[in-house]
Amino acid sequence: MKKFDLHIHTCYSKHERWGFDCLNTPKEMVEAAIMAGLDGIAVSDHNTTRGGLVAAKVAREIKKDFLVIPSLEIKTKEGDILALGVLEEVNIKSRTITADEAVEKMREIGAVLIAPHPYSREGIGEALVEKLAFDAIEVFNSRMLSRHNKKAKELALKLGLPMIACSDAHIADDVGNAITAINTNGLSIESVKNALREGETQIVKEERSRNRAKEQYLKLYLLLGKIRPPPCEKSNRILQT
Ligand SMILES: [Zn+2]
Repeated sequence: MKKFDLHIHTCYSKHERWGFDCLNTPKEMVEAAIMAGLDGIAVSDHNTTRGGLVAAKVAREIKKDFLVIPSLEIKTKEGDILALGVLEEVNIKSRTITADEAVEKMREIGAVLIAPHPYSREGIGEALVEKLAFDAIEVFNSRMLSRHNKKAKELALKLGLPMIACSDAHIADDVGNAITAINTNGLSIESVKNALREGETQIVKEERSRNRAKEQYLKLYLLLGKIRPPPCEKSNRILQT
């Protein structure tokens, strides 16, 4: 079994209102994951695979037996969808496509589709999880309310879908707060995707974030110009996929 945190952001992630969303670079998130003893992560920035592609490149230079799965968390008109294992640059404008469209487009390029925090304000909700063919449900998210996580777990059981637990880290300190062990044949993106589709997953750690206050303070300082933003390139290629 290999240990993964399958929902992590980097400074390539953009918040709809503030612009910035995560305080650390891909390299810092990869280093935090290695320190946490993980075998791999999925980098799933909002609406872009850029951070994931950069993280994959960085990881190859740092540690051989560590896997980064470039991914993205799409803000659809109805809520968030996680698409894991997207190996090309994809940039989608926030809330311009429906969940239906996102699922169809991501399926075409072979992504594993996961409903993250389905009961939160940003989630797509129970009806759409039931309607769209997801491969798995994020049943524990370190940043979400316990009752929302509990309902997500009940839904996964009801639908018979694989379950994953993720940190949804927006700051390096939070990487590895939630861990899913995956029974994968080797450590490649394809083997992990296959194992996820087959439900070869076991949740091994569910810990809530203890760094939300620190994250908010740092974001406030950034907003006020008191600290420098993390050195991530600005993506000006917003493609409508
Ligand atoms: Zn997220």
